[in-house]
Amino acid sequence: MVGIDGLKDRVRVRRSIGPADFAREYGAWKGGALGPAHTLRQSAFFRGPIRSPKLDGLYYTGSTTMPGIGVPMCLISAELVRMSLRRAAGRPTDA
Ligand SMILES: Cc1cc2nc3c(=O)[nH]c(=O)nc-3n(C[C@H](O)[C@H](O)[C@H](O)COP(=O)(O)OP(=O)(O)OC[C@H]3O[C@@H](n4cnc5c(N)ncnc54)[C@H](O)[C@@H]3O)c2cc1C
Repeated sequence: MVGIDGLKDRVRVRRSIGPADFAREYGAWKGGALGPAHTLRQSAFFRGPIRSPKLDGLYYTGSTTMPGIGVPMCLISAELVRMSLRRAAGRPTDA
């Protein structure tokens, strides 16, 4: 109850989204909104690696990789990829 007269009648569009929408609209694996759960074996260094173990030169970044979910964590994973690429090219990682 927000105390606004006639609010219910003034709502023109009401839309709920769920896992199926996340899968269809955003390509989210199994419709998950946050990637793998932060259980111990899927957190920090145990989370998915930034470097593909199958395809040389393929890197991953974002919430499914280490260190985890949330925009700050995703930016850290992007930084880890940047440092890995520079290291692979024989360049200093702190530039
Ligand atoms: C409801 C909600 C609230 C949140 N609130 C916060 C918050 O307050 N603070 C915070 O730090 N984090 C929050 N998060 C978490 C944060 O949004 C995510 O951790 C972060 O956005 C993940 O970034 P990402 O780049 O890994 O993936 P995403 O941001 O999901 O980006 C992936 C992109 O890839 C696109 N894509 C998928 N498949 C394909 C394909 N085949 N081809 C081309 N493009 C494709 C998707 O459409 C999407 O644009 C929230 C998440 C949710 C769901």
